[in-house]
Amino acid sequence: MRLSQYYLPTLKEDPKEAEIASHRLMLRAGMIKQTSSGIYVWLPLGLRVLKKIEEIVRKEQNASGAHEILMPTIQSADLWKESGRYDAYGKEMLRISDRADREMLYGPTNEEMITDIFRSHIKSYKSLPQNLYHIQWKFRDEIRPRFGVMRGREFLMKDNYSFDLTKADAVHSYQKMYLAYLRTFAAMGIQAIPMKADTGPIGGDMSHEFIVLAETGESDVFVDKAWMDADLTGDGIDYNNRAKLDNFYQALTSMYAATDEKHDPDNAPDNLIHTRGIEVGHIFNFGTKYSEAMNAKVQDQNGDMVTVEMGSYGIGVSRLVGAIIEANHDDDGIKWPEAVAPFSVGIINLKPSDRDCTEACNDLYTKLEKAGLEVLLDDTEDRGGTKFANMDLIGIPWQVVIGPKGLEQGTVELKKRATGEKKEVTLDSILEMLSGEAK
Ligand code: ATP
Ligand code: MG
Repeated sequence: MRLSQYYLPTLKEDPKEAEIASHRLMLRAGMIKQTSSGIYVWLPLGLRVLKKIEEIVRKEQNASGAHEILMPTIQSADLWKESGRYDAYGKEMLRISDRADREMLYGPTNEEMITDIFRSHIKSYKSLPQNLYHIQWKFRDEIRPRFGVMRGREFLMKDNYSFDLTKADAVHSYQKMYLAYLRTFAAMGIQAIPMKADTGPIGGDMSHEFIVLAETGESDVFVDKAWMDADLTGDGIDYNNRAKLDNFYQALTSMYAATDEKHDPDNAPDNLIHTRGIEVGHIFNFGTKYSEAMNAKVQDQNGDMVTVEMGSYGIGVSRLVGAIIEANHDDDGIKWPEAVAPFSVGIINLKPSDRDCTEACNDLYTKLEKAGLEVLLDDTEDRGGTKFANMDLIGIPWQVVIGPKGLEQGTVELKKRATGEKKEVTLDSILEMLSGEAK
């Protein structure tokens, strides 16, 4: 992408309305634009990151055996009346009526709709287990939208729903998602710790919130220091190897990690970290709460009708953009982990009026793109200082600075955004270095 032709409305000043770093940086880096309270436009740079995150989530869901569908954003109130949640949900639900005065709503979540989809086709234990997911916009009329995309009113969520014949099978489905979530967050370059979470009136301990530690987070959390060095991706564990997966789950859940609602000082270890965090995912086994209310049953091996065991699992895809920035930034701007970076290489042309310099930039740009890298070339007329500041602000992992002086020696400067480390390298070697390092 050539910056001179891109839509990247960066800001020099900190916007007053932004209270935390990620919100401030997303506005300054031209990633989003607010249209009304808690509702945002995703501008080109922001959308690239959102799509990367979405794709990482999708890939691991597919690897775990879940199937992707796409449910609509607008739902009929009827299903919610059936489950009893239409009244219970309260003001967070955006209620609308169509031209025939039918009660509709903008979906805040999809348990009812998915249960209806399930019961309309699945009639036998032979079709179980099932796990269906979608990645779709949700609307919740939050009482206090804030922190930009962290607590929006319209936000992108991955939600999936599992259906099993027995409680034991449902536990296995739950453990699969526990592992899938750990792998998903690790692939994005962040550490999210699964913490015991409140299950509300249904009880049990089958609920975990995945929380990224950050001072600016809304959750108050208590975690054992041992989490910092734990293997969180279960290398080599197959999703369908029940015994191994269960071992992994038992080992991790024996390490203390709880949000303040579940914190129990009597059982907490000595080496406890008390800090704050951002909830990026939530998994929940709720048994037959919806299948019972909505009559989702299958025939078992003996021909008896059995109410199916369900679980639901959410990831805040758009919130993750903010959470990743909270965990990866400095005073100058964002430091994207490579897996979610909007571009992997930024080229700065220090002197566009110089023919050789511009030719070298264009040549490198073409070659890197051909090698499959995503490149942003700053070919604008801005001053060098402005270009450096902008590149640091938008946080591209690798920066290549090309100017007439270096070119006389055949060299350019390569900077790694994460560490600030710079080195002079020859123009000839850079292609190989970047295709190796940035992949
Ligand atoms: P919270 O306690 O933060 O309100 P929740 O318990 O209501 O979250 P879930 O219903 O479990 O959230 O939704 C799944 C995920 O969606 C959450 O873990 C979070 O990452 C994300 N999410 C929830 N509400 C919002 C919101 N208003 N804006 C952005 N992301 C959200
Ligand atoms: Mg909420």
